[in-house]
Amino acid sequence: ADEVVLTGRSNVGKSTLMRELTGHSFETGGKPGVTRSPNSYDWASDDFMITDLPGFGFMSGVPEEVREEIKTEVVQYIERHADDILVAILVVDGKSVIDIIDRHSGEGEIPHDVEMFHFLQELDIPTVVAVNKMDKVDDRDERLNDLCDRLGIYPPWKQWQETIAPITAKKGSIEPLNDAVRHHLEAQKRDDL
Ligand code: GDP
Repeated sequence: ADEVVLTGRSNVGKSTLMRELTGHSFETGGKPGVTRSPNSYDWASDDFMITDLPGFGFMSGVPEEVREEIKTEVVQYIERHADDILVAILVVDGKSVIDIIDRHSGEGEIPHDVEMFHFLQELDIPTVVAVNKMDKVDDRDERLNDLCDRLGIYPPWKQWQETIAPITAKKGSIEPLNDAVRHHLEAQKRDDL
């Protein structure tokens, strides 16, 4: 079945966004596992599901090997479902993403978000980076341009509105994400004709 997947580190606001997209609340319970939901969200008339994948990366109180397992699970899920995934939404925290990427850009180290972005591109899955918590970001353009730079796409970010979607999920301000996702869905519909 066709699906849109939501992925990202833990605490970036994935559940908040999921609620915003679907109008439901979901039991996540903090346990690794895949939350699936039937479609009832803003992009009506398209017949697909939104799949919320477990958050990866640092979680306080969760041991390293469990975190690794979760990431492997997410990667395997995406590989298995690549043909059915219409769009992947990689959610990042706009306030902290650059610092986190830079902190993990040492020798032989690839930050999770950068790795995930390239992984999705390698699988040819149209990807939208939902840059959440923009209400906490002052230097908006600079931050988004820096993010393009770290992801290996050329700034300015405004040239990438189908890829970079600044949002504030908590306040329901997600129009750039809806626009970007709709763009990819419509492009695929045209290809299917
Ligand atoms: P998840 O772990 O990715 O599912 O993250 P949650 O949805 O549980 O959100 C983590 C924290 O970020 C919570 O305290 C949310 O209230 C907060 N949060 C989510 N979206 C936003 C946002 O747009 N702006 C701000 N300032 N906080 C947010």
